Amino acid sequence: MRKSTFVKWKVRQASFIARALASTNHVVLAHIIPMRRCNLACGYCNEYDQTSKPVPLDVMKRRLDKLAELGTSIVTISGGEPIMHPELDQIIRYIRAKGMIAGLISNGYYFTPERIKRLNEAGLDSLQISIDNVNPDEVSRKSLRVLDKKLRYLAEHADFHININSVIGGGIKNPEDALTVAQRAVELGFSTTVGVIHDGDGLLKPLTEKEKEIFHAVKKLGNKDHARLNWFQDSIAEGKPYEWRCRSGARYLYICEDGKVHWCSQQRGYPGIPLEDYTMEDFKREYNTEKWCAPTCTIQCVHQVGILDNWRDPQKSEAQLRKEKQQKEKDRVGQMLAS
Ligand code: SF4
Ligand code: SF4
Repeated sequence: MRKSTFVKWKVRQASFIARALASTNHVVLAHIIPMRRCNLACGYCNEYDQTSKPVPLDVMKRRLDKLAELGTSIVTISGGEPIMHPELDQIIRYIRAKGMIAGLISNGYYFTPERIKRLNEAGLDSLQISIDNVNPDEVSRKSLRVLDKKLRYLAEHADFHININSVIGGGIKNPEDALTVAQRAVELGFSTTVGVIHDGDGLLKPLTEKEKEIFHAVKKLGNKDHARLNWFQDSIAEGKPYEWRCRSGARYLYICEDGKVHWCSQQRGYPGIPLEDYTMEDFKREYNTEKWCAPTCTIQCVHQVGILDNWRDPQKSEAQLRKEKQQKEKDRVGQMLAS
């Protein structure tokens, strides 16, 4: 990444954080899926298929218009494998044209110097690749040995921020691979994070002693900003629940390939409302709703968004909010009858 682009990226980051702290009335981060299909089939993953078609560009543009209307700061394109979408560059251009930050999550398989240059031209701001192991096995082929050439292409040609996420847990055989991956990322000038792989419900798998040791070593190598934002991981690594306020459905949105809003990739179906019909009333309800799955949640990006509002606006459970709504309705009918 060129120095001038890096400085611009940092300035834009600082301005969206300032805006998010100043007001709670807009979306901070949205993940959007332009295609569920993936070229891989990782053993722990419940976010792909091998047959679906790309979402047409005009449909994607309408969804992005709505995200811009909701005041979204960052749109991260995810999948499946979004690089398989034939109009990915136009989608990135459109995000930037709407004044939003454009991020991409990819498994890295399709990067060539030419493809990277096209992403530069489209205006991509940031890329994250998760690498699960050093050598491919039956759980995952997102492997350093396979991807190292792609990482070198990125180091040479990319003009966007790159983060390499290594993972621990979820059936990954050699936890020490996470350290090798993180060391290589630092060597190539990328930032690095470590994630605890969730199970099919997005919930915690406890780490073994060996995994914990590696986890802390990788965290030390990583970017200090991320380490500060990921305090929750220390509790999760110890197998302890973490108290926080998940603002999914409001400050964070997950938009599936069918254009519906979900809490996150692991809690699809709630609230399950089409994005085009999503209102600020839905936003406020979800902002104030306590999520039952929060104490053991391992999803880094939603935790990071949550930090912006953790100090304000305590949440209530769905049952409490329902009861309060019923009581308000009763009071209203009572007043009408009395008048
Ligand atoms: S590459 Fe990503 S989306 Fe594809 S199967 Fe693996 S984890 Fe899932
Ligand atoms: S706490 Fe929030 S991000 Fe985590 S699993 Fe639940 S809904 Fe998803």
